[in-house]
Amino acid sequence: MQNLYSSSRFNDEDDEDDSIHGTPVHQEVDERTLLHSASHGSETAGSGGGKVARPKQARVKSAEFIKSSVRVEDCPPPIYPEFAVIGRGNVGKASLINLLTGRNALAMVSKTPGKTKCINHFCINKSWYLVDLPGYGYARTSKENIMGWNKFTRDYFANRETLVSVLLLIDASIPPMDIDIQCASWFGESEIPFTIVYTKLDKKKKGCPPAEENIREFEQRLLEQWESLPVTLRTSSKAGLGKNGVLQHIAQLRALYHQEASIK
Ligand code: GDP
Repeated sequence: MQNLYSSSRFNDEDDEDDSIHGTPVHQEVDERTLLHSASHGSETAGSGGGKVARPKQARVKSAEFIKSSVRVEDCPPPIYPEFAVIGRGNVGKASLINLLTGRNALAMVSKTPGKTKCINHFCINKSWYLVDLPGYGYARTSKENIMGWNKFTRDYFANRETLVSVLLLIDASIPPMDIDIQCASWFGESEIPFTIVYTKLDKKKKGCPPAEENIREFEQRLLEQWESLPVTLRTSSKAGLGKNGVLQHIAQLRALYHQEASIK
Protein backbone atom coordinates (compact mmCIF):
# COMPACT_ATOMS: atom_id res chain seq x y z
CA MET A 1 0.00 0.00 0.00
CA GLN A 2 1.24 3.45 -0.81
CA ASN A 3 0.73 6.70 0.97
CA LEU A 4 -1.18 9.64 -0.32
CA TYR A 5 1.08 12.66 -0.15
CA SER A 6 0.28 15.42 2.21
CA SER A 7 1.97 18.73 2.76
CA SER A 8 1.45 19.17 6.45
CA ARG A 9 1.38 17.04 9.51
CA PHE A 10 0.20 19.77 11.77
CA ASN A 11 -3.16 19.89 13.45
CA ASP A 12 -4.78 23.16 14.36
CA GLU A 13 -5.64 22.62 17.98
CA ASP A 14 -6.11 26.38 18.11
CA ASP A 15 -9.10 26.31 15.78
CA GLU A 16 -12.24 26.97 17.70
CA ASP A 17 -14.87 27.86 15.22
CA ASP A 18 -14.10 25.52 12.40
CA SER A 19 -15.67 22.29 13.32
CA ILE A 20 -18.81 21.37 11.56
CA HIS A 21 -21.27 18.78 12.87
CA GLY A 22 -18.90 18.14 15.76
CA THR A 23 -16.14 16.79 13.56
CA PRO A 24 -12.61 18.17 13.81
CA VAL A 25 -11.54 20.07 10.76
CA HIS A 26 -8.07 18.59 10.74
CA GLN A 27 -6.96 15.03 10.69
CA GLU A 28 -3.67 13.66 11.90
CA VAL A 29 -1.67 12.18 9.06
CA ASP A 30 0.80 9.37 8.90
CA GLU A 31 4.36 10.66 9.33
CA ARG A 32 5.64 8.57 6.46
CA THR A 33 3.26 10.39 4.21
CA LEU A 34 5.25 13.55 4.65
CA LEU A 35 8.66 12.37 3.76
CA HIS A 36 7.90 12.78 0.09
CA SER A 37 6.68 16.32 0.08
CA ALA A 38 10.11 17.95 -0.08
CA SER A 39 9.91 18.90 -3.72
CA HIS A 40 6.95 21.09 -2.89
CA GLY A 41 8.42 22.73 0.12
CA SER A 42 7.51 21.08 3.40
CA GLU A 43 9.90 18.27 4.12
CA THR A 44 12.26 20.09 6.43
CA ALA A 45 9.67 21.29 8.84
CA GLY A 46 7.65 18.13 8.43
CA SER A 47 10.49 15.88 9.45
CA GLY A 48 12.75 18.20 11.40
CA GLY A 49 10.75 18.35 14.59
CA GLY A 50 11.42 22.10 15.07
CA LYS A 51 8.81 24.51 16.31
CA VAL A 52 7.06 26.18 13.44
CA ALA A 53 5.29 29.51 13.48
CA ARG A 54 1.57 28.98 13.89
CA PRO A 55 -0.01 32.22 12.83
CA LYS A 56 -3.28 32.93 14.57
CA GLN A 57 -4.06 35.63 12.07
CA ALA A 58 -4.40 34.26 8.61
CA ARG A 59 -6.64 37.01 7.35
CA VAL A 60 -6.89 37.98 3.70
CA LYS A 61 -6.19 41.70 3.63
CA SER A 62 -5.76 42.09 -0.10
CA ALA A 63 -6.61 39.88 -3.03
CA GLU A 64 -5.80 40.80 -6.58
CA PHE A 65 -6.31 39.01 -9.89
CA ILE A 66 -2.91 38.83 -11.60
CA LYS A 67 -3.38 36.96 -14.86
CA SER A 68 -4.78 34.01 -16.78
CA SER A 69 -2.23 31.72 -18.38
CA VAL A 70 -2.32 28.84 -20.80
CA ARG A 71 1.36 27.83 -20.55
CA VAL A 72 3.53 27.32 -17.51
CA GLU A 73 6.02 29.81 -19.02
CA ASP A 74 3.24 32.40 -19.03
CA CYS A 75 2.45 32.07 -15.33
CA PRO A 76 3.52 34.95 -13.09
CA PRO A 77 7.15 34.72 -11.92
CA PRO A 78 7.42 32.04 -9.21
CA ILE A 79 8.23 34.47 -6.42
CA TYR A 80 5.55 33.44 -3.93
CA PRO A 81 4.39 30.13 -2.48
CA GLU A 82 1.22 29.05 -4.20
CA PHE A 83 -1.86 26.98 -3.52
CA ALA A 84 -3.90 25.58 -6.38
CA VAL A 85 -7.62 24.97 -6.08
CA ILE A 86 -9.16 22.21 -8.14
CA GLY A 87 -12.30 20.09 -8.26
CA ARG A 88 -15.12 18.81 -10.41
CA GLY A 89 -17.27 21.42 -12.10
CA ASN A 90 -19.97 22.66 -9.70
CA VAL A 91 -18.05 21.48 -6.63
CA GLY A 92 -18.23 25.00 -5.20
CA LYS A 93 -14.80 26.27 -6.23
CA ALA A 94 -15.84 29.83 -7.05
CA SER A 95 -17.89 30.02 -3.87
CA LEU A 96 -14.95 28.83 -1.78
CA ILE A 97 -12.55 31.31 -3.39
CA ASN A 98 -15.10 34.02 -2.58
CA LEU A 99 -15.37 32.79 0.99
CA LEU A 100 -11.60 32.68 1.48
CA THR A 101 -10.89 36.06 -0.05
CA GLY A 102 -14.13 37.86 0.79
CA ARG A 103 -14.12 39.25 -2.76
CA ASN A 104 -16.95 38.14 -5.03
CA ALA A 105 -15.43 39.65 -8.14
CA LEU A 106 -12.34 37.47 -7.87
CA ALA A 107 -14.06 34.18 -8.52
CA MET A 108 -16.01 35.81 -11.34
CA VAL A 109 -12.76 35.85 -13.26
CA SER A 110 -12.70 32.08 -13.38
CA LYS A 111 -16.27 32.02 -14.74
CA THR A 112 -15.47 34.46 -17.54
CA PRO A 113 -15.71 32.78 -20.96
CA GLY A 114 -12.23 32.08 -22.25
CA LYS A 115 -10.77 31.93 -18.77
CA THR A 116 -12.44 28.77 -17.52
CA LYS A 117 -9.75 26.64 -19.14
CA CYS A 118 -6.93 28.88 -18.00
CA ILE A 119 -4.86 28.89 -14.88
CA ASN A 120 -5.82 32.02 -13.01
CA HIS A 121 -3.40 33.50 -10.50
CA PHE A 122 -4.63 35.64 -7.61
CA CYS A 123 -2.15 37.37 -5.33
CA ILE A 124 -3.13 37.39 -1.67
CA ASN A 125 -1.69 39.90 0.81
CA LYS A 126 1.11 40.50 -1.71
CA SER A 127 2.74 37.37 -0.33
CA TRP A 128 1.17 34.24 -1.76
CA TYR A 129 -0.77 33.03 -4.77
CA LEU A 130 -4.12 31.35 -4.82
CA VAL A 131 -4.40 29.59 -8.16
CA ASP A 132 -7.68 28.68 -9.76
CA LEU A 133 -7.32 25.65 -12.02
CA PRO A 134 -9.82 24.40 -14.62
CA GLY A 135 -12.51 22.08 -13.25
CA TYR A 136 -12.66 18.46 -14.34
CA GLY A 137 -15.32 15.87 -14.97
CA TYR A 138 -17.05 17.60 -17.86
CA ALA A 139 -16.10 15.22 -20.63
CA ARG A 140 -15.37 11.55 -21.17
CA THR A 141 -11.68 11.27 -21.77
CA SER A 142 -9.03 8.66 -22.23
CA LYS A 143 -7.72 6.63 -19.33
CA GLU A 144 -4.39 8.42 -19.32
CA ASN A 145 -6.07 11.78 -19.05
CA ILE A 146 -9.06 10.85 -17.00
CA MET A 147 -9.60 14.29 -15.52
CA GLY A 148 -9.64 15.80 -19.01
CA TRP A 149 -6.78 18.08 -18.14
CA ASN A 150 -4.83 19.55 -20.97
CA LYS A 151 -1.07 19.17 -21.16
CA PHE A 152 -0.67 22.58 -19.63
CA THR A 153 -2.52 21.70 -16.43
CA ARG A 154 -0.47 18.52 -16.03
CA ASP A 155 2.73 20.47 -16.77
CA TYR A 156 1.70 22.96 -14.14
CA PHE A 157 1.44 20.29 -11.46
CA ALA A 158 4.69 18.69 -12.50
CA ASN A 159 6.79 21.80 -12.97
CA ARG A 160 5.53 24.69 -10.93
CA GLU A 161 8.33 24.86 -8.39
CA THR A 162 6.50 27.13 -5.96
CA LEU A 163 3.38 24.97 -5.75
CA VAL A 164 3.12 24.16 -2.06
CA SER A 165 -0.13 22.23 -2.02
CA VAL A 166 -3.18 21.52 -4.13
CA LEU A 167 -6.54 22.04 -2.47
CA LEU A 168 -8.66 19.24 -3.93
CA LEU A 169 -12.31 20.14 -3.44
CA ILE A 170 -14.76 17.30 -2.85
CA ASP A 171 -18.53 17.82 -2.71
CA ALA A 172 -19.62 16.30 0.60
CA SER A 173 -23.31 16.49 -0.29
CA ILE A 174 -23.09 13.55 -2.69
CA PRO A 175 -21.69 10.00 -2.45
CA PRO A 176 -18.11 9.52 -3.68
CA MET A 177 -17.57 9.99 -7.40
CA ASP A 178 -15.10 7.74 -9.18
CA ILE A 179 -13.46 10.68 -10.88
CA ASP A 180 -12.69 12.33 -7.52
CA ILE A 181 -11.12 9.10 -6.25
CA GLN A 182 -9.10 8.92 -9.46
CA CYS A 183 -8.02 12.51 -9.11
CA ALA A 184 -6.82 11.99 -5.51
CA SER A 185 -4.99 8.86 -6.60
CA TRP A 186 -3.40 10.72 -9.49
CA PHE A 187 -1.98 13.28 -7.07
CA GLY A 188 -0.76 10.46 -4.86
CA GLU A 189 0.89 8.62 -7.72
CA SER A 190 2.38 11.84 -9.05
CA GLU A 191 3.71 12.72 -5.58
CA ILE A 192 1.97 16.07 -5.61
CA PRO A 193 1.10 17.21 -2.08
CA PHE A 194 -2.58 17.92 -1.67
CA THR A 195 -5.17 18.72 0.93
CA ILE A 196 -8.74 17.48 0.68
CA VAL A 197 -11.24 20.28 1.21
CA TYR A 198 -14.81 19.06 1.55
CA THR A 199 -17.42 21.54 0.34
CA LYS A 200 -21.17 21.96 0.92
CA LEU A 201 -21.15 20.53 4.46
CA ASP A 202 -24.45 22.33 5.08
CA LYS A 203 -26.25 20.57 2.24
CA LYS A 204 -28.46 17.52 2.57
CA LYS A 205 -29.26 16.50 -0.96
CA LYS A 206 -32.55 14.65 -1.52
CA GLY A 207 -31.96 10.94 -1.94
CA CYS A 208 -28.31 11.18 -0.81
CA PRO A 209 -26.83 10.22 2.56
CA PRO A 210 -25.80 13.02 4.94
CA ALA A 211 -22.48 14.76 4.33
CA GLU A 212 -20.58 12.95 7.08
CA GLU A 213 -21.60 9.59 5.64
CA ASN A 214 -20.45 10.62 2.16
CA ILE A 215 -17.14 11.74 3.63
CA ARG A 216 -16.69 8.49 5.52
CA GLU A 217 -17.35 6.48 2.38
CA PHE A 218 -15.02 8.66 0.31
CA GLU A 219 -12.22 8.16 2.82
CA GLN A 220 -12.87 4.44 3.05
CA ARG A 221 -12.56 4.19 -0.72
CA LEU A 222 -9.25 6.05 -0.64
CA LEU A 223 -8.00 3.86 2.18
CA GLU A 224 -8.67 0.77 0.05
CA GLN A 225 -5.84 2.00 -2.16
CA TRP A 226 -3.71 4.14 0.13
CA GLU A 227 -2.25 3.69 3.59
CA SER A 228 -3.08 7.13 4.85
CA LEU A 229 -5.05 10.22 4.02
CA PRO A 230 -3.76 13.74 3.52
CA VAL A 231 -5.03 16.55 5.73
CA THR A 232 -8.79 17.00 5.33
CA LEU A 233 -10.77 20.19 5.93
CA ARG A 234 -14.50 20.78 6.00
CA THR A 235 -16.19 23.85 4.59
CA SER A 236 -19.53 25.35 3.71
CA SER A 237 -19.42 28.51 1.67
CA LYS A 238 -23.15 28.91 2.09
CA ALA A 239 -22.96 28.76 5.88
CA GLY A 240 -19.61 30.60 5.93
CA LEU A 241 -17.88 27.76 7.75
CA GLY A 242 -14.37 26.43 7.44
CA LYS A 243 -12.76 29.64 6.21
CA ASN A 244 -10.39 30.00 9.17
CA GLY A 245 -9.40 26.35 9.01
CA VAL A 246 -8.39 26.63 5.36
CA LEU A 247 -6.60 29.96 5.80
CA GLN A 248 -4.72 28.75 8.86
CA HIS A 249 -3.71 25.56 7.09
CA ILE A 250 -2.38 27.65 4.20
CA ALA A 251 -0.60 29.97 6.67
CA GLN A 252 1.11 27.00 8.31
CA LEU A 253 2.26 25.61 4.99
CA ARG A 254 3.57 29.03 3.98
CA ALA A 255 5.52 29.20 7.23
CA LEU A 256 7.01 25.79 6.47
CA TYR A 257 7.80 26.86 2.91
CA HIS A 258 9.64 29.98 4.09
CA GLN A 259 11.42 28.05 6.81
CA GLU A 260 12.72 25.58 4.27
CA ALA A 261 13.64 28.34 1.81
CA SER A 262 15.64 30.15 4.49
CA ILE A 263 17.88 27.17 5.20
CA LYS A 264 18.50 26.29 1.55
P1 GDP B 1 -17.81 25.85 -9.28
O1 GDP B 1 -18.47 25.51 -10.59
O2 GDP B 1 -17.01 24.71 -8.75
O3 GDP B 1 -17.05 27.14 -9.31
O4 GDP B 1 -19.00 26.00 -8.21
P2 GDP B 1 -19.81 27.29 -7.72
O5 GDP B 1 -19.08 27.98 -6.63
O6 GDP B 1 -20.24 28.10 -8.89
O7 GDP B 1 -21.06 26.56 -7.05
C1 GDP B 1 -21.86 25.64 -7.78
C2 GDP B 1 -23.24 25.59 -7.13
O8 GDP B 1 -23.12 25.07 -5.81
C3 GDP B 1 -23.89 26.98 -6.98
O9 GDP B 1 -25.28 26.82 -7.17
C4 GDP B 1 -23.57 27.35 -5.54
O10 GDP B 1 -24.54 28.23 -5.00
C5 GDP B 1 -23.62 25.99 -4.85
N1 GDP B 1 -22.76 25.96 -3.68
C6 GDP B 1 -21.44 26.27 -3.61
N2 GDP B 1 -20.97 26.12 -2.35
C7 GDP B 1 -22.02 25.70 -1.59
C8 GDP B 1 -22.16 25.37 -0.20
O11 GDP B 1 -21.24 25.45 0.62
N3 GDP B 1 -23.42 24.94 0.18
C9 GDP B 1 -24.47 24.84 -0.68
N4 GDP B 1 -25.63 24.41 -0.21
N5 GDP B 1 -24.35 25.16 -1.98
C10 GDP B 1 -23.16 25.59 -2.44
